[in-house]
Amino acid sequence: MAAGDWGDIYKELGATPVINAIGSVTMLGGSTPVPEVKEAMERADGPYIPLMHLQEKAGEAIAKMADVPAAYITSGAGSALTLATAAVMAGDDDDKIQQLPDTTGMKDEILIQTRQRYWYDRCLQLAGARLVEFGDKDGTTREDLEKAIGPRTAAVHFYAVEQEPDAKALPLEDIIEIAHAHDVPVLVDSAGQIYPLDVFGKHVRMGADFQCIAAKYMGAPQSTGLALGTKDMIRKLGLQSFASYEGRRIRGVGRPHKVDRQEMIGAVAAVRRWMTMNHEERLAQAEGQCGAIMAPLAGVPGVTVQRIDNVVGHMPYGVVLRVDQEATGMSLTDVVDRLKAGDPPIWTRVRDGEDFIAIHVFGLSEGEDRIVGERIAALFG
Ligand SMILES: *Cc1c(COP(=O)(O)O)cnc(C)c1O
Repeated sequence: MAAGDWGDIYKELGATPVINAIGSVTMLGGSTPVPEVKEAMERADGPYIPLMHLQEKAGEAIAKMADVPAAYITSGAGSALTLATAAVMAGDDDDKIQQLPDTTGMKDEILIQTRQRYWYDRCLQLAGARLVEFGDKDGTTREDLEKAIGPRTAAVHFYAVEQEPDAKALPLEDIIEIAHAHDVPVLVDSAGQIYPLDVFGKHVRMGADFQCIAAKYMGAPQSTGLALGTKDMIRKLGLQSFASYEGRRIRGVGRPHKVDRQEMIGAVAAVRRWMTMNHEERLAQAEGQCGAIMAPLAGVPGVTVQRIDNVVGHMPYGVVLRVDQEATGMSLTDVVDRLKAGDPPIWTRVRDGEDFIAIHVFGLSEGEDRIVGERIAALFG
């Protein structure tokens, strides 16, 4: 830790740092690279290296650790989604690669369940593809998918959330079976599906052609992500990347999605650490941090806290905070606003459709857990 007061390096710019009680959110910084990753990145500093070559070797190392045929490091999981759609549309045809996002003459429809429309599906459109929904708000059947597949179908997309499976969505097993019967590839967003370890790479092992993982959830720089997939899919995805744009002189859509060589090495180190670390310890620590948030709130009238018991995925545990507005005169939005107005600001949020604040310890440094609990308690006198 550098000398000086908390947040100095930001305050020198007149910028105000905050305590992040939301969790891994891109808007606040997404991730703190862990010491193993920072050290690896530093060791990557000296030499330069051809990046197409490094991508290949780093991809092989990650693929081996993730037990999938192939992998590629991208500029975040969002970039992996965009490059994957470009790959399924243009394949290895250099003319088509250079034509995107104009999709004239290409299959350009990505099928997505109406129930699975989500925040990041925009990333599926950026290379020029169009999203076509199947099923409806109430559910999706196999027939819905059969009917939706047509001559312009480039891929079927699936959004995997193992910690909150959607019983009404068409399961990935069915999607793989039906899509592959029509020679249509399957893309999966598994960005947060990194724990338990057997879920890491699971969707490719199930038969999907591609899945993305957000390396921000594993202590890598938040600007890195992983594309995992079949050898064919990952080779085509690589042709779309910034490294190929420069290395092959074929101008794919991925040119703005740069990744540093240091970040590539950092992403490998992050996966290695994740696969070998003591997860019991990691979980116990998160559980303890939740306890530290909850302790000052015990017995505060009108306030209830409850630990979230989930350990699946990227953000274990957490605290659900509920406020009785009638008894306290304070709404959840008031709580969020007042925490944000404090010094230092504490960021929390109420997600659409939820009647509680979910606090996650992902972004809390040592001691900040207790501060969060105390500052919330202080709001209620
Ligand atoms: C975070 C996230 C993304 C985007 O990942 P980046 O690495 O931030 O680009 C995509 N999908 C899901 C489900 C995510 O949680």
